[in-house]
Amino acid sequence: MTSSFINKNRHEGCEILIRGTVQGVGFRPFVYNLASRFGISGTVSNTGDGVHIRAAARSERLAAFLAAIKSEAPPLARITDIKQQPLHEPVVPGVFTILTSAEGEAPRAVIPPDIALCDDCLKELLNPADHRYRYPFINCTNCGPRFTIVESIPYDRPKTSMKAFRMCKVCTREYTDPANRRFHAQPNACSDCGPRLFWHERSGRRIEGVVPLAEAAVALSAGQVVALRGLGGFHLSVDARNRAAVDLLRARKNRPDKPLAVMLPNMTSIRRFCPVGREEEELLRSTIHPIVLLRKRIDFALADNLAPGCGELGVMLPYTPLHHLLFRQPGCPEALVMTSGNASGAPICTANEDALRRLGHIADFFLLHNRDIVTRIDDSVTRITSGRPQIFRRARGYVPQPVEIPWHLPPVLGCGAGLKSTFCLGRDTSVFPSQHIGDLFNLESYEFYTESIEHLQRVLRIEPQIAVCDLHPDYMSSHYAAELGLPLYRVQHHHAHAVAVMAEHSLSEPALAVVLDGTGYGPDGTIWGGEVLLAELTRFKRLAHLEQLPLPGGDAAATQPWRMGMAALFAAAGGAPWPEERLPAGIAAIDTHRRSTINAMLAKGFNSPLTSSCGRLFDAMAALLDVRQHISYEGQAAIEFEWLARARADANWLDRIPQFSQLERPALLCKKGEKWEISSTEFVTLALAALAVGATPGEVALQFHCQLLAVLTELLRRLADRTGVRQVVLAGGCMQNRLLLEGLLHTIPRINLEVFTGESLPINDGGIALGQTIIGGLQHVSRNPHEGHQS
Ligand code: ZN
Ligand code: ZN
Ligand code: FE
Repeated sequence: MTSSFINKNRHEGCEILIRGTVQGVGFRPFVYNLASRFGISGTVSNTGDGVHIRAAARSERLAAFLAAIKSEAPPLARITDIKQQPLHEPVVPGVFTILTSAEGEAPRAVIPPDIALCDDCLKELLNPADHRYRYPFINCTNCGPRFTIVESIPYDRPKTSMKAFRMCKVCTREYTDPANRRFHAQPNACSDCGPRLFWHERSGRRIEGVVPLAEAAVALSAGQVVALRGLGGFHLSVDARNRAAVDLLRARKNRPDKPLAVMLPNMTSIRRFCPVGREEEELLRSTIHPIVLLRKRIDFALADNLAPGCGELGVMLPYTPLHHLLFRQPGCPEALVMTSGNASGAPICTANEDALRRLGHIADFFLLHNRDIVTRIDDSVTRITSGRPQIFRRARGYVPQPVEIPWHLPPVLGCGAGLKSTFCLGRDTSVFPSQHIGDLFNLESYEFYTESIEHLQRVLRIEPQIAVCDLHPDYMSSHYAAELGLPLYRVQHHHAHAVAVMAEHSLSEPALAVVLDGTGYGPDGTIWGGEVLLAELTRFKRLAHLEQLPLPGGDAAATQPWRMGMAALFAAAGGAPWPEERLPAGIAAIDTHRRSTINAMLAKGFNSPLTSSCGRLFDAMAALLDVRQHISYEGQAAIEFEWLARARADANWLDRIPQFSQLERPALLCKKGEKWEISSTEFVTLALAALAVGATPGEVALQFHCQLLAVLTELLRRLADRTGVRQVVLAGGCMQNRLLLEGLLHTIPRINLEVFTGESLPINDGGIALGQTIIGGLQHVSRNPHEGHQS
């Protein structure tokens, strides 16, 4: 804070402007209570700009008041900036008032994210003597819906979907009593005046005269599928102990293999199925209550088709009062699948009619309510890796929190990629990554995407002056960006991956970026994805990459790993078909005619674009070890291949990463002109040789991980020596592979380099929009110096 103009011995006044997450988190009542404690006269109000305080008192009290605002702020508040100036108009002595909200001229207020039910509310929920006993929408200033109910700012009840409910006397009294813990809790409600539940058949007909939660428990325990309207959208739920029920849901949702998340009522229950570390428990119980990926116990006793081929399960605790009540219904299963309520590939449903129409063929019953969801948001997905949090899907509980950066941006929109899409708005030193939107392949997702951009622009009052998109011309996000009519910057995919991590850690200096990824468009027209870049904030240089392999059939190769397996064998045979009699079993099992077609394509280079993708190399290895020849969800072969290796990796597996000099094949790393190349075919040759002498597929899979780690580490050592760059960033979808990430976090410090990766933002394509926002924004500033400045 700037130097104070408070003179300790005089009666003084000042205006205080506080910015950050200060609305909807009980900040005004907090200020009110402090004011009465220190004997301050004046006012407090929400503005479009944050919280505005006018305060008058004896100077020493004023100083104590200011200090307490900073040191005692409510748990959910995040102050980014406090400014003070002399009081312009006098205040009424002896009173302190909370004013109704006024809209400021330069709105910067941040709307808080949605917050899991707090302990105080849970106690009331379960207390038969309480006014809100068993009320499924209980909340307070410390918990409940926020971002999902906001229509515009300032964050006040008339600008939320709670405006449809007129508070009863009890609720009004709490809402207007500064000493009450529901003072200005915008979603405040009770069973007399607030939202309520309804029970519907799949035909849409409402069933009256029943207790909806009791009906839901009965249906779930009978193995039926129930659609639950929640906080940010619908969940589809079944009994997670019941294999047949899980299969039914999978068949109806057309989701044969992709892992399903499970909600368990408490920590004791979670521990029965998964061991939980300290950091994992903290994350599970945080105000966010995200899905946390946990290792399944060896004697895992839930249905075995929840996460087939994967040793982890996504688990979360109940985060709304409705969830807590549901688990307490007689007969309710102890473990419930809670998967996004959407038809395959489409965004999660939010409105009742929409859900009844689109989920009617999936759910047997619908548990509905009448509190409208303004903003759709999925559950966030996280994991602890090497003691640090990682976010795979950043949504509920995190959005719309900004990331603060040490650079100044003009108003900018980063449009994101094609898979796991997000977008990002930036202005000055704040960037606001959107919630996870999903894969932008169909009209419904595209509408969700465009609506969300418009909504976030409105509530943040950011009017982008420039747009940034991927180099890939065919992403729907690139088309959207091009149609905005703004100055447009196109950013290389893996450069964006790298800068997203640099931004999270405020790295201004160049970094060596290891980006192991699925697919990204390269400026040379080939498909990149196994890259080591010298990354700067506004430009990059490709220093090394994986040896390119052909993708026979283009996009089709990504869903049929056997095609990549054949491409790898073709390369390993020196550019000729691999001998039939030595084909690995899984590939030999593929129809002969299809195989010869692929060999013909490879020989002619027909419809076989080249790629340095790490994801495709993993697909090839998965095919050679017969982990999987066809996939039903993105990344499936790589995930199952990782689990094959992880099942072999004991607690000391990191010691198995060899020194580069110990590798049998130094040709794994070679220099081609200016660039280094990691030989994909050498990995294949090594794997086949190991199989030939009787190594198990699990052993070969683990060896491959260790060899790749050794090569990458040696490459980084050489590149650091040559460039003098000592900082390394790790990003890309393949870095979600725990062995790769843990391995690099282990080896890189041992060659005396500093290593960074994504902790509060996804390192998969969910982070692309952030990287784009920074790169495009700073490129624009450097070309148009009058529109901003770099600090
Ligand atoms: Zn609460
Ligand atoms: Zn009420
Ligand atoms: Fe990517």
